[in-house]
This record gives sequence, C-alpha cells and structure tokens, in this order.
Amino acid sequence: MADKTKKQGNFAPGDAPTYESVLQCMRCGFCLPTCPTFVLTGRERSSPRGRVALARAVHEENLDFTEALKQESFFCLDCRACTTACPSGVKAGEVMEVCRSQSHQVFPGGHLSKSFRNFILKRMLPDPDLLEAGMLPARLYQRLGIQWLVRHSHILKLGPDWMDKAEGMLPKLDAPLRGQLPEMTPAKGEKRGRVAFFLGCVMTLLYPDVSRQTVRVLAGQGFDVVTPAQAKCCGAPHMSEGDRETTRELAKFNIDLFLSQDVDYIVTDCAGCGASLKEYEELLAEEEDHARLELFRSKVRDVNEFLSEVGLRTEELQEVKVSVTYHEPCHLCHAQNVSAQPRQLIRSIPGVEFREMKESSWCCGSAATWGLKFSEESQQVLDRKLANVAATDADYLVTTNPGCHLQLAWGLKQADMPQPVIHLMELLGRATPD
Ligand code: SF4
Ligand code: SF4
Repeated sequence: MADKTKKQGNFAPGDAPTYESVLQCMRCGFCLPTCPTFVLTGRERSSPRGRVALARAVHEENLDFTEALKQESFFCLDCRACTTACPSGVKAGEVMEVCRSQSHQVFPGGHLSKSFRNFILKRMLPDPDLLEAGMLPARLYQRLGIQWLVRHSHILKLGPDWMDKAEGMLPKLDAPLRGQLPEMTPAKGEKRGRVAFFLGCVMTLLYPDVSRQTVRVLAGQGFDVVTPAQAKCCGAPHMSEGDRETTRELAKFNIDLFLSQDVDYIVTDCAGCGASLKEYEELLAEEEDHARLELFRSKVRDVNEFLSEVGLRTEELQEVKVSVTYHEPCHLCHAQNVSAQPRQLIRSIPGVEFREMKESSWCCGSAATWGLKFSEESQQVLDRKLANVAATDADYLVTTNPGCHLQLAWGLKQADMPQPVIHLMELLGRATPD
C-alpha cells in the first residue's frame, strides 16, 4: 500500500497507509451510520472518519503511532461498509488493515505471544497438511463424547467469554474435503468451459459438504472443475492479523499455482477468499510483474458472480419448495461489489420463495476473530441481524461465507430461532440433479 522508500511521517518503516489514501476524506460523515463500531459506541475515533483522521495525523507528524490507533485498527471489523457509502472512495477498513501491521512493529508484544502468533500464521496456516493434522484433536473431541460432557457441564462458562463462544460455534466436523475431491471433476452435459476451484481452508475443514456441492453445481452447469490440492491459504487471516509479509508469500505461491492450470476462470465459494484473491494485485503491485497480476485478477470470480455471468442453465433444475432470506457477507457485497448476483441465482431456482430482509448488508459481527475478541460488541451487532432475519419468517437463512455461517448458526441457536443456515451452493445443489 505504500512506497517504502518514501518518507511516511511518524509511521515506522515498512507497510503503512499511503498519504493519498488518508487525504481523500472530506469529513462529510456519510459513512457514519454504516459503521458498526461507530453505531455501537458513538465515538468519533471508532468511526471511519475518525480512524482515517488518526492515520492522517501520524502521516503529518502531528501524532505518534499511539496505543489508541492500535486499538482502533483492531476494533475495526474491516467490514468495508464505509467504503460502499463513501462518495470519495476512502477505504478506511484497508487503512486500518495496514495500521495493524504497524501495530506489530511499534508494540511487538511479549516473546510467548509472538511465538504463538508466528506458529499459527507462519507455520500452521500456510501448510495444508499441518492444518488438517491440527484439526484432528477437535474431531476426536467430538467423536469421543468429550464435547457432550463439556457442553452439559457448562464448564467453559467459568473461563473467558470467547472460549465458550468458540466451542459453541464448532460445527460437526467431518473429514477434510481436500483429499476427497478428484483433481478434475468432469462437466456434465454440453461442456461450457474449464475452471479451477480454489478450496479455502475453512471450507475444507469446517464445511466440506458446501464445497462438495459447489464443485457438483459447477460440473452440473457444464464446467470441468480442476481442484489443485496444493493450494494454500488465501492469506485473509494474515491480513486480518497484520501479517502482510506472509500474505505476500502465500499470494505468490497461489498465483504461480493457478496460472499454471489451463483454465478460463478461478472460482471460489468463500467470500473472504474471493476478496483476498482479488486484492493480490494491489498487495504485490511493487514487486511482481503487472501483466501476470492482471491476468490472475481477471480470472478470479466468486461462484455467485461466475454463475450469474455465464448464465445459470435452469432447464434441468429440480424444484426446491422452501422460503429463504439472504444475508450478504461484507466481503462479498462491500469488498467485491457482488450483491445482485446471489439474489438472481436464488430467484432462478424453481420453487424457492425469496424473502428480502431489511439491512441485508449489515455485518453479522463475525469478522474473522473480531467476534471472539469483542464478544459483547459482536453480540450487539448480531442481535440487529437476527431481528431482521426473524421478521422474514423464512424457512432458511442463506449466506455465502464460512465466517458468517459460523456466527449466524451460533446466534440463531442461542436465540432459539428455527432457521438453519445454508450456503447458496447447498441450495443450488439441492436443485441440481445427480
Ligand atoms: S470516509 Fe468518506 S464518507 Fe466518511 S467522512 Fe470521509 S469522505 Fe465522508
Ligand atoms: S471497515 Fe467497517 S468497522 Fe471499519 S471503519 Fe469501515 S465501517 Fe467501520
């Protein structure tokens, strides 16, 4: 985001927001009602405008990189709702993302927390084998009945809030999908092209059935689907934690891998991964060949965007008689500007009754680990969403991002609400004949 050879005001050397990115704000305030942290606190410094003003003051050497700016950079959900609302194109969420990286330089933390962070971000997440091995204890925990004991004894209520919430969010864990998907799933019927499927870490580990359906739907729509098992994490968790260095390494690896496939498009069913893959171009702008970055970017599509673009073949779809409402993941509607397409797909499925909810693009309060770090605030953001879901009285709540899926399914269960959460590709999978 910055030319590191240029002076960066009071920012430390390395990644910092560019001066241009903080100058664009004209302080109009249009973003304020869209920002969950401003709505919750009413605090100017927790608003997009206030956050950008803090970063500008550091650039202009009127302020050091303070603890307050560090706190605000992590308190921002990076939901990007402010970017959609901003007439000047200010990207406050992205400015805060870069400030997180500054935070680690200015406030490096203790040895233990640094080692733990480095192990998770630099060793575990970039290694799909290690990641799968790391989930094995969680699967045993469920299989051996320990989870039942823990839940019925309520023992986790004695610990910090995040622990009980994290445990309660765990879906039933099945074997990871990565080793089960064939390298190439052939198209059905008249062939329309060849795509690569980017299987995200959370999808393969927590929602394998969703991505199984995505591949089935794509094949049913006439596409050969290549799934490179060597793909690595997209880097979204690293960006969220301010580790831009590892994100760059992951981005280079994934670009090389996917550009070596003979495919027309690179498709993902995870809104967070899609946003991250599309942002590789900007992330690597200073160090990689522009033509390759552009080529990669031109091929990446969220699956809803892709199916809408190529046109859904509906002749063979089976009727699914349910009513559904739709929650828009921030990283799909705000970060990728994909908003109408999922609705078009839902409306194309025979038998489905679509019920629009109010404030469908209001964040669910998940935002990677934000919902665990700020569990009280997260609950307040979620409550507003659940009230809007309840008002639709729909049979199902559809979404398209695993982080939202986890948070919404947990919230609905806590609130004793009947709607199951399903991914749009699961819904389309039900309509797709074998
Ligand atoms: S960030 Fe955009 S919408 Fe918000 S005050 Fe600045 S210019 Fe206005
Ligand atoms: S990204 Fe979201 S939380 Fe962060 S400043 Fe913008 S609207 Fe507020």
